[in-house]
Amino acid sequence: MNPRSDENTRDVSRRLAVFTWHLSTVVMASEKEAALAAVPSDSPTIFDKIINKEIPSKVVYEDDKVLAFRDIAPQAPTHILIIPKVKDGLTGLSKAEERHCDILGRLLYTAKLIAKQEGLEEGYRIVINDGPNGCQSVYHLHVHLLGGRQMNWPPG
Ligand code: AMP
Repeated sequence: MNPRSDENTRDVSRRLAVFTWHLSTVVMASEKEAALAAVPSDSPTIFDKIINKEIPSKVVYEDDKVLAFRDIAPQAPTHILIIPKVKDGLTGLSKAEERHCDILGRLLYTAKLIAKQEGLEEGYRIVINDGPNGCQSVYHLHVHLLGGRQMNWPPG
């Protein structure tokens, strides 16, 4: 192996890692801005359009109650959103009432099924953002399923 080309490869990898990190901080900042700009409301959201197939999405699972599709701005190699097809007042988890227990359980169980389907045997993370402090930007309850890389703790 040519030691000079070895060093060049390492240099390119380092530059790529720094660039990727800068890019991810820009994406994170804009998501936070989007979340802070979002007004909590019970109005229809972009997820209604996805449910009604008015805009395209990459669906990975669907049944009569639940829809799951790939996040448009993935934060991990696997990033899937799992949503109830009928919002029924569930703009976010903080609006949950006892009557929502079935759908809440189904969302989590579906996350487990999809994790298996996606081959996330090494583990994964489930996230539910709620309200401005939780960085929620879409007011239709959704479960994030993130996997395919090592997660960090504490989360940001
Ligand atoms: P949250 O910030 O928890 O409210 O998450 C909302 C998520 O919806 C973000 O991760 C967005 O990237 C994602 N998102 C927004 N619009 C779309 C879309 N059209 N298709 C897929 N994911 C979307």
